[in-house]
Amino acid sequence: MALKDVKGIGPRALALLSKMGIHTLEDLVTHYPFRYDVLVRGNLQETEDEGHIIIDGKVESTPVLMRFKAGLNKMNFRLVTTSGVVGVSIFNRAFLKNQLLVGTGVTVIGKYDKKKNVITASEIKMETLSTKAKIEPVYHLTNGLSQRQMATFINMALLTHGKEVPDYIPTSFMEKYHFVNKKTALNIVHNPPSEEKLKEATIRLKYEELFAFMFKINYLRQENKKKNSGLIRTIPREKLASFIESLPFKLTEDQNIAMQEILSDLESEGRMNRLLQGDVGSGKTILSFLAMYANTLSGYQSALMAPTEILATQHYNNMKTFFKDIPLHIELLTGSTPKKEKQEIYQELKEGSIDIVIGTHALIQEEVTYANLGLVITDEQHRFGVNQRANLENKGKKPDTLYMSATPIPRTYALTIYGDMDVSTIKTRPNGRKEIQTILKKNNEIKDVLSMMLEELKKGHQIYVIAPLIEESENSDLTTVCHLRDQMRLAFGAHFQIDIIHGKMRSEAKELIMQEFLQKKIQILISTTVIEVGIDVPNATMMVIFDANRFGLSTLHQLRGRVGRSDLVSTCILISDSDTKRLSIMESCNDGFIISEEDFKLRGHGDLFGTKQSGDMTFKIANLKQDYKILLQAKKDSNVYLQNKENQDDPLKQDLIASIQNG
Ligand code: ADP
Ligand code: MG
Repeated sequence: MALKDVKGIGPRALALLSKMGIHTLEDLVTHYPFRYDVLVRGNLQETEDEGHIIIDGKVESTPVLMRFKAGLNKMNFRLVTTSGVVGVSIFNRAFLKNQLLVGTGVTVIGKYDKKKNVITASEIKMETLSTKAKIEPVYHLTNGLSQRQMATFINMALLTHGKEVPDYIPTSFMEKYHFVNKKTALNIVHNPPSEEKLKEATIRLKYEELFAFMFKINYLRQENKKKNSGLIRTIPREKLASFIESLPFKLTEDQNIAMQEILSDLESEGRMNRLLQGDVGSGKTILSFLAMYANTLSGYQSALMAPTEILATQHYNNMKTFFKDIPLHIELLTGSTPKKEKQEIYQELKEGSIDIVIGTHALIQEEVTYANLGLVITDEQHRFGVNQRANLENKGKKPDTLYMSATPIPRTYALTIYGDMDVSTIKTRPNGRKEIQTILKKNNEIKDVLSMMLEELKKGHQIYVIAPLIEESENSDLTTVCHLRDQMRLAFGAHFQIDIIHGKMRSEAKELIMQEFLQKKIQILISTTVIEVGIDVPNATMMVIFDANRFGLSTLHQLRGRVGRSDLVSTCILISDSDTKRLSIMESCNDGFIISEEDFKLRGHGDLFGTKQSGDMTFKIANLKQDYKILLQAKKDSNVYLQNKENQDDPLKQDLIASIQNG
């Protein structure tokens, strides 16, 4: 059944609807109101001067129309209501004049000027209020379509074809929750008879949307497990264990558990599809090294992809250090690897003589082929688009995949975005780690800040300083990296080395600066957020962030995670003249999971993920922020339904699966 068959929808309307992304009958009837106006009949006596009023009555005088320049017009008439007679004026509705005959019942919505006893109407409806309260849907529109037309189209479609709209809730759950059928629910949300009914119908439609979504996730996960029988391998566990023994530290309990989960995934027939999440500094990286080592021991190549060159280089150096006594062929491949060297690496990857390659998206260039890629790890995976991830996975036949994220994901999102993955979580930080102390300061307290910095420098520790901008710009008075460098050099330059790093520098220059900072040749490193991800300099114990209110919670938390990487006491100073909720959350809380929930509450998920992923997450009626409970139930139910053998031939199940292929 097509949209054009709906009575009243002609070619013009069809074009307008299509512009709004409404192409099918189902699109139309699920074009839900984005809000409801509750129309409650007012009373002239009880409405305040200049107060909003909705009132119905009968037209008492023929409207007088005045026309002004530029096509403006105004109409005045008198209205008899149950609470008295009142003047009504309305602009630019000349076209209503012929309908506003004396004696016609209308509803007027507007502002009441008590002294003049006149309502300046924003809207006049050609009907009186039937009950005490009327709940009116308000739709998103496009130029050329009115609320009324939209409502008419939707209702006409429902009336004639409502029964054809698919319903994705299985009968058993319809009965369990006493849900009304789809057509009725749609009717209610577009024409709410009461708040109570509206709520019930809304919940039912939300549940259906989330049920279908979670079914899709559960189904994909199941198919992934079934079809993607992974690589068959054996890992010489003792060899791995003795290497772990030789590490300079003992793995934490959470690390041990996560490690076991990863190893059994590697050994199992199924293909690993696992997210390893843990706060910055919780020790994920070492686990990725161990996983790659295990993968090498079982005869396959590994690739580790990081979002920045700095981070890739750091991983490479760290891994080389950890494994200096083990014959492993590890290479670094980034955008700035010299051409000749690149060609060699390509060759060696193809031949299989490289065991482990660490790099940036240079790893997913077309030229790169692997002899026997068995494990793919992406660090800070939310920074890569879904396609980039898939590209790397496709380089191997059926490589196991591990994603690492230091951006803890709010529970809701973990369930949805990562719903098709297994998740390992590291909650505890390695032993000896002190909590980071976070202090809020105003710009006029800069002297305090400088003296705290001096104290820290005197102890031989290093400091990160962060500013939102690199250079001065005319239309902004935000602190800049260059300005801070000059200021810091004035304050500390006589005794300490101060340098800068930012995204506009060439990567060799960045690399050099990072090396110097790591070697303690630089004491104060001033930076933009380029150091946000993953940098590990244990001797850096203080972070000072200027214009801290400019950064989102997740960013601030990531930045702060650069310090507190040893058993030394670390401090994070946030400088801002405005007291925002975000800053006080930062001050009181060090737990990335809580912070991510708060960030989510404050800003939604826009900041957390790449646009591609956010795009996957748009719902028509459900709202992940508010409907978490429904989501959980839908997840559970959809899984029960999926697993139940009796549903094997249920046509609904086929419909649900088909909807995956279409969506
Ligand atoms: P993440 O990748 O989770 O941000 P890292 O793996 O970079 O964290 O770990 C931060 C630092 O802690 C690194 O220097 C790492 O070598 C060290 N580390 C990792 N695990 C432990 C542990 N169990 N005990 C002590 N230090 C550890
Ligand atoms: Mg890391």
